[in-house]
Amino acid sequence: MKTNRTISKAIRQIVSKRAGERCEYCQSPLDHSPDPFSVEHILPRAEGGKDTLDNLAYSCQGCNNAKHIAIRGLDPVTGQIEPLYHPRLQP
Ligand SMILES: [Zn+2]
Repeated sequence: MKTNRTISKAIRQIVSKRAGERCEYCQSPLDHSPDPFSVEHILPRAEGGKDTLDNLAYSCQGCNNAKHIAIRGLDPVTGQIEPLYHPRLQP
């Protein structure tokens, strides 16, 4: 099945405005970043994530690169694998 991998400019604008033009992970403002921000999938497409607004987050390049397609990570305090921060479920 062919999937459309492009998120429209209109959807990007909605996600950006909803986030207040701040990264939804680290809260860095877009206007203090040398790089453009991305609209990323909280649940990656590879894990079944959709292009719906509730699954899209505005992200700086640093957070987007660090998260990549991960949805879980090692908690350095507990040593356990835990779900990563979810901007829609943990505002
Ligand atoms: Zn960030």
